Amino acid sequence: MPLCVALLETALTAPQPLILLVDDVRINLDLLEAVLQAEYRIVRAVNGLEAIERAKELNPDLILLDVMMPEIDGFETCRRLKADPQTQAIPVIFVSALSEIGDEAQGLQVGAIDYIMKPIRPIIVKARIRNHIALKQARDQLEEMTIRDALTGISNRRRFDDMLAQEWLRARRRSAPLALLLADIDHFKLYNDHYGHTSGDVALREVAQALDKAIRRPGDLAARYGGEEFACILPDTDSVGAAQLAERLCQAVCDLGIVHAHSSAAQCVTLSIGGVSLVPSVEDEPRILVDLADVQLYEAKRAGRNRASIRQDGTS
Ligand code: GH3
Ligand code: MG
Ligand code: MG
Repeated sequence: MPLCVALLETALTAPQPLILLVDDVRINLDLLEAVLQAEYRIVRAVNGLEAIERAKELNPDLILLDVMMPEIDGFETCRRLKADPQTQAIPVIFVSALSEIGDEAQGLQVGAIDYIMKPIRPIIVKARIRNHIALKQARDQLEEMTIRDALTGISNRRRFDDMLAQEWLRARRRSAPLALLLADIDHFKLYNDHYGHTSGDVALREVAQALDKAIRRPGDLAARYGGEEFACILPDTDSVGAAQLAERLCQAVCDLGIVHAHSSAAQCVTLSIGGVSLVPSVEDEPRILVDLADVQLYEAKRAGRNRASIRQDGTS
């Protein structure tokens, strides 16, 4: 599906934006909720620590934060939200009765995007929040575009590189295996030559979507590595698991039944896959997974294509 259509579809089916309201006085929460509930999903927190917890858990689109609260106040809550990579991108608006100019400045300095004075005027609050939510959504969409491959709609190379670095470190910390599969469409140049590049693009998209669907665990990632090559990152997966998934991916692409009369591997579009699983060591870098999987991919091609070759544990 082209990216613009995918984004439009997401927009049409997306749930209402989620707003986290934070105030230690219940009536203030009731008041804000009454003003906002027609347009947004609302969750509440009654102190700073609960707000941070809920923000991490729910990743709201916006936080409306009271300043004067017991334990940690709104400024400190905001500071902590902005210091945590998991919550720092969530826009924060202070809602406060502190009307002195110094407080407003302090609110903005700790990372809030706006400051609303109590008593609130519903029409102004609604308008401001609508603007901030629109900005947040535009930013989310841009961010989404930077990690998605425009032709196939699956994750792109940039996302792959980021995830590989991240998963490498996570697996190293936990001494857990991390597997990588590199998949390459067989005789795709011949496919383009005989059916045209437009048909080639359609086939690429179908293959990418089939791979994306066949990856089942939430932590797994399928990405377009480049050209007609795809890569899958599989955390907590040993070489037996990697081999099973590789077989499933080969099968999923065969099952698409995209006719390729000029391939020596089969009558339809097929994949060759190279794979490896290892427990990351301090001396190595994530690159080694790609290099080792590449060696296996070459082996799969050499052995006749339309197959997977997974590095056996203990091979040096
Ligand atoms: P092998 O089985 O050895 O992998 O052969 P191959 O023909 O698939 O490999 P080769 O590297 O010679 O050719 C890759 C082809 O993939 C050539 C290129 O035109 C095609 N390709 C790469 N990206 C795209 C794309 O975005 N769209 C289309 N239609 N074709 C692409
Ligand atoms: Mg290739
Ligand atoms: Mg190829």
